[in-house]
Amino acid sequence: MAAQILDGKGHSDSMLEETKAKVAGMVAGGGRAPALAVLLVGDDPASQVYVRNKIAACARVGITSIERRLTADVSQGEVNDLIDSLGADPNVDGILLQLPLPSGLNAKSALHRIDPAKDVDGLHPHSMGLLLQGAPGLRPCTPSAVLHMLKAYNVQIKGTRAVVIGRSEIVGKPMALMLLEEHATVTIAHSRTQDLPDICKQADILVAAVGRPGLVEGTWIKPGAVVIDVGMNEVTDAALAAKIMAQEPKKLETLKTKGRVLYGDVRFGEALQVAHSITPVPGGVGPLTIAGLMENTYLAAKTRRNH
Ligand code: NAP
Repeated sequence: MAAQILDGKGHSDSMLEETKAKVAGMVAGGGRAPALAVLLVGDDPASQVYVRNKIAACARVGITSIERRLTADVSQGEVNDLIDSLGADPNVDGILLQLPLPSGLNAKSALHRIDPAKDVDGLHPHSMGLLLQGAPGLRPCTPSAVLHMLKAYNVQIKGTRAVVIGRSEIVGKPMALMLLEEHATVTIAHSRTQDLPDICKQADILVAAVGRPGLVEGTWIKPGAVVIDVGMNEVTDAALAAKIMAQEPKKLETLKTKGRVLYGDVRFGEALQVAHSITPVPGGVGPLTIAGLMENTYLAAKTRRNH
């Protein structure tokens, strides 16, 4: 039987509706709406699309968005000063620094300037420390929304074996810690991991956050596993596509007509025949990230108001 598709888009919609209701409650209670400052440095086209989508999501749930743009030639000091002034602004609840920054600017230095109370991306060391301790705090948006979806689909996490491929600060590491917090037995794999297929094969829950199209083959997946594909890769190579998308004629057709196709880290067609359930790309993890950001902005606003 083909695996169940975990509908990230649908789940994201319901998360956004939940946040919208909570924001409406906050406003009805006499408070102002939560406000998210979105900071874009430079004019990277992909980043501009992400920023636009985030601002549209704010409008959808009733969060005030404050867009701040700086040109690519700004100094680190100017970026940091703007982050400081947003941190000091009582009308700002969340600060999102769109990454990557143009070359010459240090993302870590900028992220560390964000007031931890407004750290809606959950990337400040303070937020990371709370995550490590299992204490309440703002969590990175993608893994926290993945967890939210796993729970909504009643996926058993406690006592299961989870494997996370990827150890980035934005996805892999926090995802592994969140699964650990939910009492999974977690293995983190990365580019130096040996016997990756065998390790993956042990996973009841397999999360791929790598950025390598079709890395995970169907034979790496334990029958009945839940597979979360975080990867978002643009494939333009027809030979590679023929190999990894052999069972996905629609994807191959898209590549033929558009010259590129969006593909995950997991060979979806192969995985469908082995897994219990799987997130598609697109329409899986991607939409969840913005829903996680909206939820975090609401949480930041609520926490700040309670202090
Ligand atoms: P990243 O910072 O580049 O990290 C990639 C991780 O994968 C690293 O830990 C790396 O290991 C590991 N890796 C690379 N090649 C490997 C291999 N052959 N075998 C095993 N592990 C390997 O990437 P990221 O920011 O975490 O993003 C990962 C993917 O998720 C990308 O496709 C990105 O576009 C996507 N993404 C999607 C969303 C969303 O909203 N859907 C959000 C964020 C990211 P080392 O540490 O050893 O180098």
